[in-house]
Amino acid sequence: MAIIGFIGLGNMGGPMAANLLKAGHRVRGFDLSPAAREAFVAAGGEAAASAAEAARGAEVIVTMLPAGEHVREVWLHQGGLIEAVKAAGPLLIDCSTIDVASAREVSEAARQAGLDMLDAPVSGGTVGAANATLTFMVGGPEAAFQRALPILQAMGKNIFLAGGPGAGQAAKICNNMMLAINMIGVSEGFLLAQKLGLDWDKLHQITSTATSQSWALSNYCPAPGPVPTAPSNRDYAPGFMAALMLKDIKLAQAAAEATGSPTPLAKGATSIYQAVVDAGDGAKDFSVVFRWLAAQQRT
Ligand code: NAD
Repeated sequence: MAIIGFIGLGNMGGPMAANLLKAGHRVRGFDLSPAAREAFVAAGGEAAASAAEAARGAEVIVTMLPAGEHVREVWLHQGGLIEAVKAAGPLLIDCSTIDVASAREVSEAARQAGLDMLDAPVSGGTVGAANATLTFMVGGPEAAFQRALPILQAMGKNIFLAGGPGAGQAAKICNNMMLAINMIGVSEGFLLAQKLGLDWDKLHQITSTATSQSWALSNYCPAPGPVPTAPSNRDYAPGFMAALMLKDIKLAQAAAEATGSPTPLAKGATSIYQAVVDAGDGAKDFSVVFRWLAAQQRT
């Protein structure tokens, strides 16, 4: 069993750290928020007074932070963890969803300090975090991946090594970019079908086995009715929040811009999710884009 430092005990990090405790690891956690630290202590963890204290003496250090700036801040900036822990040689794992450039910058700094670092963003949301069924998309050296596996297996179910540093983040944003576009496509199809007098259940039955079949259509149908367990049948309660989808598709757009990759549909999708969030639905499931599109219909 390992000694683990865990930084970022929010909606995802809190339950992930709790699962490490359940697996028998010794976990010292830190979060800027006192409420998050208290919840972690209630789950049986030890709260540290700073990130450096959580990391001291740890064999593995995990971060689960909001964005690239927080990840760079914690690992690189003055008093940053890489400098503080390099003599002890821990394995570093960042599970946050961040831009590929920041992920590569931090893992390069770790490499220069003689440390192994993995980018290991997740999908599966807060339910996956609570149930230890997350999917991990990992970037970094193969040997570090093997070292991380027992730790990641305590928090997730499907664990993939996508490639070298930054490849985990690349896989995550490409997946979510495709999903974001697809959800709008399914929504447009169901709205047009309604205008043409088609029954949604019938359309769902046909398209689920036809060439437009997709995860968004079969499991997460944005039109209420055909898939009883979908967020569309509970007033779009998340699920995966539209604001987080907007964050991810913006990361994908930044990567497309930086690499000169053509993404005209993702560009359009970004402005649509931005409109959904601006309309006040950022905390709803991202399939609420269906309702936003429905509101644009000519009557
Ligand atoms: P969150 O805001 O609930 O948690 C982030 C935590 O980091 C907060 O508690 C905050 O206080 C803490 N924090 C910020 N700066 C810090 C610092 N310098 N030191 C210590 N703690 C600091 O966010 P979340 O929903 O847990 O998401 C975390 C990451 O996981 C994000 O990158 C998000 O995109 C990704 N993600 C979230 C979901 C989801 O469904 N919530 C799903 C997949 C991936």
